Amino acid sequence: MRLRNIPGAQDAILESAYVVQEPEKHKGSWGDLFEKKQPLHIEVGMGKGRFLMDLARLHPEINYVGIEMYDSVLLRGLQKRAELEQEGITYPNLYFMRVDARLLPEIFAKGEVDKIYLNFSDPWPKARHAKRRLTSRQFLTRYDQILVPEGKVEFKTDNRELFEFSLEEVKDAGWNLDAFTFDLHHDAQMSEGNVMTEYEEKFSSMGNPICKMVISRGQ
Ligand code: SAM
Repeated sequence: MRLRNIPGAQDAILESAYVVQEPEKHKGSWGDLFEKKQPLHIEVGMGKGRFLMDLARLHPEINYVGIEMYDSVLLRGLQKRAELEQEGITYPNLYFMRVDARLLPEIFAKGEVDKIYLNFSDPWPKARHAKRRLTSRQFLTRYDQILVPEGKVEFKTDNRELFEFSLEEVKDAGWNLDAFTFDLHHDAQMSEGNVMTEYEEKFSSMGNPICKMVISRGQ
C-alpha cells in the first residue's frame, strides 16, 4: 500500500502520542513502555492498522506494536485511532512505529517478541527483489533475532505465488511449518477466531481464497 504523499504527515507522526519515536532506544525494555508487562505481538506492514486495533481490544492481556514504513499510510491509521478514541475506545496496549522492518533487530532484543503477524505483505514479484519480501530467508533471520524460542509468525495472503515462495523459504531456512491452508475461510480449524485485515476483507469479497501459514523457529 502506498498512498499519495500527504503534506504534514511526517510532523503529525512526530507529534503523535500513539507513535514510538526513536524505537531503538526501547530495545530490551519494551515492557516498560506499556501500562502492563505482558507478551508482545507485532504486525510488520500494518497498513492503516485496523487489524491491530481490533486485536488490541479483544486481547487486553497482550501488548501490540504495529510497524509501517510509509508516513502517508501510518497517518491514516493515526487518524482512525483518534476518531475511535473520541468515541471512548482506547488502546493502552497498542503503539505504532514508522520504520522499515529491516531494522527490527536494532529495535527489539532477542526474545523480546512473542508473535509476529504478516498480513497481505507486498509481493515484490521481480526475482531480484525477493529479499524485500517479508517472508524471505533474510526476513526470517531477522525474526529469529527478536522472537522468544517458542515464538511464532502468522502469515496471511491471497497471493498464491508469494505463499508458495514463502513455503519454500520456510523449509530452506529450517523453520517449522506448524499449520497451513490455501483457503482459510473454508478451514474450520484455522479460521477459528480469525480477525480480518482491511486487505483480507477486500480480496475475499472479490472471491480470492486466503492462504495462511503459522511457522515457528526450528530447533
Ligand atoms: N497488513 C495490512 C492489511 O492486511 O490490510 C496492509 C497490507 S499492505 C498490502 C502492506 C503494507 O506493508 C504496506 O502498507 C507497506 O507500506 C508495508 N510494508 C511493506 N514492506 C515493509 C517494511 N519493510 N517495513 C514496514 N512496512 C512495510
